[in-house]
Amino acid sequence: MVKKYEKLFINGEWVTPHGTGFTTVVNPATEQPIAEVCNADATDVDRAFAAAREAFKTWSQTSAKERAEWIMKLYHAMEARKEDMAQAISASMGCPIAKSRIIQVNCVVAFKKFADRAAFMEEETKVNNSVIVREPVGVCSFITPWNYPLYQLVGKVAPALAAGCTMVIKEASITPLQGLIFAEVVESIGLPKGVFNLLTGKGSVLGDLMVTHPEADMVSFTGSTATGARIQKMSADTVKRVCLELGGKSPYIITEDAPLEAAVKFGVEDVMINSGQTCICLSRMLVPASRYEEAVVIAKRVAESLKVGDPTDESTYMGPMSSMGQRNTVVKYIEKGLAEGAKLVTGGVELPEGITGGAYVRPTIFRDVHNKMTIAQEEIFGPVICMIPYSTLDEAVDIANDSIYGLSSGVWAGSVADAVKIARRIRTGGCYVNGGDFNYDAPLGGYKQSGNGREWGDFGMHEFIEIKSLQLPG
Ligand code: NAP
Repeated sequence: MVKKYEKLFINGEWVTPHGTGFTTVVNPATEQPIAEVCNADATDVDRAFAAAREAFKTWSQTSAKERAEWIMKLYHAMEARKEDMAQAISASMGCPIAKSRIIQVNCVVAFKKFADRAAFMEEETKVNNSVIVREPVGVCSFITPWNYPLYQLVGKVAPALAAGCTMVIKEASITPLQGLIFAEVVESIGLPKGVFNLLTGKGSVLGDLMVTHPEADMVSFTGSTATGARIQKMSADTVKRVCLELGGKSPYIITEDAPLEAAVKFGVEDVMINSGQTCICLSRMLVPASRYEEAVVIAKRVAESLKVGDPTDESTYMGPMSSMGQRNTVVKYIEKGLAEGAKLVTGGVELPEGITGGAYVRPTIFRDVHNKMTIAQEEIFGPVICMIPYSTLDEAVDIANDSIYGLSSGVWAGSVADAVKIARRIRTGGCYVNGGDFNYDAPLGGYKQSGNGREWGDFGMHEFIEIKSLQLPG
């Protein structure tokens, strides 16, 4: 059944939009519509920012303890809706349900962590005759993508609430459902009105309005580098703080003495999860020439062992791409790789075996890739790995750094100490060392054209803080 969402969440209540029409949400596995979501317009943007501005007067003056209590209420209410959100995300962007419960929805735990960090706002530093205090940056404008839609929401909303900011958010128009559930949660706990406001509709219509709005003090955007660069320019006229979390083309250096089976398996599974639509995925695998053939055999075996198919099947590892549009983009890159002389180890442009429709792409691995090829330079955002041979570690580091991006990277070496030495030479905001795990208490963000902000952990709070110095009489 196609569910219709006819209201926006503004100033603590569900309101009929001034905007007209609906955006259809499509299940990429079945290509069938699953929801119709109303479109906001400029008048709705003004209403939402006016509500956030008014709410800021009181929310910014609440104590850290009060805000922590509100965030904990949100956390508990979200815990109760986790399955709804896992299902909504799986249906709208194709992440297999068993994976969705973990990689899409476990981020809810971060509410608890940011509730603790609210106290950070009341820390003061004395410097001679001055006291340095922390204050919230103000009204925030949030724009998020479709690949980990709830994770993107939580990474912005939780620290902003903890800091005492109020906000207006617009999520990607192909994945608005978890945001609507989140607004129901906000309503159910009675969060003060206007603190959190949700708009739905197209970025092409709402984006410019949200990033130039006179009532927005800060813009936090996660998405493509092209849109991020545009946002940075557009928000310059009103000198907003801009936090950008953008694209990546992350290198993964495997050394001569690494345990090859474990290292290659880690790399392949890392890229294939969420159908390669992970900004930090290790899409360039750098392997010593002496172990290249061996690594190719392992990569092929691992990729071909992953179950691709129906996202509602509990045992599926990889579902479809999030949309047919994204499938077309990825297929074009695979064609480009072949045209440039890279060779397929596995995968390709055809639908996976046994699948006759939907936005599916085969787990694809290219060998004989040169780092100057388009497939090694541009973000494909699909289940495609470029295996690049190298001769010396210096050359591997040069290849790793030969990218406009600097979001993430990986190293697997014979020892953690050796891997850390290599990791410190790679110009990226993060590095996965010898199979290390994602950490919600560690900052995530990019160097170079991957962005300028940090999310998660203590550093994720810093983005939402203004620093004030009070000069006291001697
Ligand atoms: P996108 O096309 O840039 O869209 C992201 C968001 O921007 C969506 O909400 C979109 O709305 C909106 N938007 C579209 N046009 C806009 C405009 N002119 N002004 C303002 N906002 C506008 O990116 P995407 O393809 O959805 O997301 C994938 C990208 O996100 C990849 O490059 C990935 O690497 C990056 N990403 C980065 C991180 C990180 O932490 N660094 C994390 C996840 C993803 P509509 O959906 O309505 O078009």
